[in-house]
Amino acid sequence: MHVKPVKEERLAIHGGQPVRTAYLAYGRQSISEEDIAAVIETLRSPYLTQGPKIREFEEAVARLVGAKYAVAFANGTAALHGACYAAGISAGDEVITTPLTFAASANCVRYCGGTVVFADIRPDTYLIDPEQIRQHITPRTKAIIPVDFTGQPADMEEIMRIARDHGLIVIEDAAHSLGATYKGKRIGSIADMTMFSFHPVKHITTGEGGMITTDSEAFYHRLLLFRSHGITRDPARMHRQDEGAWYYEMHDLGYNYRMTDIQAALGLSQIRGLDAFVERRRAIARLYDELLSPLPVILPYRAPERESSWHLYLIGLQLEKLTAGRKEIYEALLAENIGVNVHYIPVHLHPYYQAAGYPKGLAPHAEALYERILTLPLFPAMSDEDVRNVARAVEKVTRAFARV
Ligand SMILES: *Cc1c(COP(=O)(O)O)cnc(C)c1O
Repeated sequence: MHVKPVKEERLAIHGGQPVRTAYLAYGRQSISEEDIAAVIETLRSPYLTQGPKIREFEEAVARLVGAKYAVAFANGTAALHGACYAAGISAGDEVITTPLTFAASANCVRYCGGTVVFADIRPDTYLIDPEQIRQHITPRTKAIIPVDFTGQPADMEEIMRIARDHGLIVIEDAAHSLGATYKGKRIGSIADMTMFSFHPVKHITTGEGGMITTDSEAFYHRLLLFRSHGITRDPARMHRQDEGAWYYEMHDLGYNYRMTDIQAALGLSQIRGLDAFVERRRAIARLYDELLSPLPVILPYRAPERESSWHLYLIGLQLEKLTAGRKEIYEALLAENIGVNVHYIPVHLHPYYQAAGYPKGLAPHAEALYERILTLPLFPAMSDEDVRNVARAVEKVTRAFARV
């Protein structure tokens, strides 16, 4: 029987049959019947917001990660804003973060009037380089915002040591790393403050939502104040005690960044699935590693003593072995119905930061990496067959563009 060699397979982008008939997104939520029931129960309850579910969800997350306090926010970006406020960031302060992240990791510093300082990544781990952090510290540095990019914890031990040596506050952007561990410790219990996001592509979702965990009572109270207009109703904290039961005081200019009880009820229900979600993400990553290893791509780095929670699975294209660039490969994979993505455009290259004077070339490793990365679909509801489809599409496309 004549078997058609794979290399003659016509790419979908050139009119061939796509590997998949149905589009596979890069990420999406898993919602169970229990999740839906929990939301409905809250809809029928007296409290849609400012009720008991917020506190329950905060306590569940604090317990899960091993932190003393947790404060829920309307979204992860608002939570980062709250953390920068709690850390006392203001005009003239410098905060060091990675350029290889979502813009919110840097924007939160700008909201408070602070100056963002980008420290380059390590080319192997894609994580902020502690040596680069050291080199960017000045007398004006106030905080560090490391990002657990893709779900792999940053070099937290070294970053905490640098922070202690220089009196800096560490706000860990753990939007990618709920459920990850660093030397056996759960992410959320290491930095001064840790931010989680509950956007639908993240590990658990509340639609929109975020949380800060901390062991500091002082940060905890500042986060609570900031989340709700700068207002306190705590008699122990008020300037006047004898006004009456209606009385409250506004102590600082805060925002309405509250999460609703509807969202918190969903989060509480979702948290029950977290271990299974993370386990499934790890299994998918292992299968990708196995299927993709013969192909002209660089597989994700796995740091010792860390367990990634695998928010993202990135491949680095070995462009020197290919006749096409990342854009052509991306478009060809999309035509095969594979929802590839790019995480991230280095933050300092966005027009807003360019206009603020950050030069191209300030983070050579992040900028070089950006030219070759692709994010493959990864979410718990993917089947092994979905994973095989993706790997087959990567094989088909890289073969079609192989440099011989
Ligand atoms: C998702 C994300 C955020 C912000 O979270 P939102 O809940 O979408 O506001 C911040 N940092 C990183 C790295 C993220 O991936």
